[in-house]
Amino acid sequence: MAGQTVKIAVLCACGEMAVRQVNQFIDFGELWWDAEFTCDGCGTYRCEHAGPGAAPDDGWRQALLAANGAARLRLVGSVPSLVQAMKVFREVSGVSLPQARRFVEQLSGDGVEGTLVEMEFLKTRLRLRGIPVDVDR
Ligand SMILES: [Zn+2]
Repeated sequence: MAGQTVKIAVLCACGEMAVRQVNQFIDFGELWWDAEFTCDGCGTYRCEHAGPGAAPDDGWRQALLAANGAARLRLVGSVPSLVQAMKVFREVSGVSLPQARRFVEQLSGDGVEGTLVEMEFLKTRLRLRGIPVDVDR
């Protein structure tokens, strides 16, 4: 699937309005995000971040959610083993056992919410472990 992008207007040091573009995508089976800063006023271009993992919630990820809307990942069948689902959440998010348990409870209830890219990524990982999930938009 394609990634998601958001462009945020920011003030450059030169006094012109510049653009910060945040991208979230899946690369070689990993969740990635990057951010680049471009100012047409002074010609500044810099890569602010590029790497695997979840985008920081504050500002970056919230901007992605605001621009693209949230997606919801839900269980669409019975789960052979909740332990497998918890393992996926622990691997992917590095969360504690109680947090992983809470995610799995959400998954079987109203669903887990996040960006479409994050949910597609989780879907792939969960399906690999035999957990039937699907993404609602
Ligand atoms: Zn500038």
